[in-house]
Amino acid sequence: METKLEPALYVTATPIGNLGDITARAREVLCRVDQVAAEDTRHTAPLLRHIGSRARLLAAHEHNEEEAAQRIIAHLQQGEAVALVSDAGTPAVSDPGARIVARVRAAGLRVVPLPGPCAAIAALSASGICAPHWLFYGFLPAREKALEAALAELAALAELRALPCALIFHEAPHRIVATVHAMEKAFGGTRRIVLAREISKLFETIHAAPLAEAATWLEADPQRQKGEFVLILDAPEASTENPLEESERVLRILLSAGLPLKQAVALTREIAGGNKNALYAQALELKEKQDMQDG
Ligand code: SAM
Repeated sequence: METKLEPALYVTATPIGNLGDITARAREVLCRVDQVAAEDTRHTAPLLRHIGSRARLLAAHEHNEEEAAQRIIAHLQQGEAVALVSDAGTPAVSDPGARIVARVRAAGLRVVPLPGPCAAIAALSASGICAPHWLFYGFLPAREKALEAALAELAALAELRALPCALIFHEAPHRIVATVHAMEKAFGGTRRIVLAREISKLFETIHAAPLAEAATWLEADPQRQKGEFVLILDAPEASTENPLEESERVLRILLSAGLPLKQAVALTREIAGGNKNALYAQALELKEKQDMQDG
């Protein structure tokens, strides 16, 4: 007879497309726990059937996390083992679960992570992006103005070298083209992006391109816009050895040739990439220096 699982909340990663990706440990734990707290019980029931688990299901979604946490705590205090799963991937990664984990930990009860599928990490692993650091942003805002503001903020930080890392985003298929256009506007056309679509599924596609070409590639075939996406923007260092030096070099040439500031900034953006506001600030500084030298 199998020994009883130790009472704990087992935070369990589940497949993001291919059922074969469930880990041996996740399978065992899901079969042995008393309860499975699931983001959507209708979604998780077939997975449990598939692996032969007869654990009871308990709803734990973003609208009932506090109440679900209290129910889970009560089960744990009665000596039961509870698994926490989301619809796909790792719970609490752009998914509900973090509040439940926080409450269970605050109650002094054990939380055990079961590592496994995670779309962002799978995309990064197959992206070929060599940046030593990366930031997982999750979903960008859906509304156009908020999206542009969030990207402008990130681009400005990256330009200041405050954020010298690759950036990882989740995106929905109906927003993919608009988001890539907005990214080009914020980061410039030379920054490289990797579009990782339908990972571990039939139409898995991993496409790398400069931002200037990415939207055109997506628009060339509507099939390319379907499914689930992870977007990875490469770190600025990968585009040029030192983007600030490169933009300064280009700006110097254009300003000394007498081009108006606005035009010099626009052309520099085309040539060296970069954030419009940061380039403006850089151009103003250079122009002041040049004026002082001339005058
Ligand atoms: N917790 C999940 C994880 O660990 O991967 C992420 C959940 S989040 C609600 C769903 C988003 O993850 C999708 O909109 C998409 O951006 C990304 N995603 C999930 N499955 C994917 C897949 N098979 N291929 C590409 N992206 C995926």
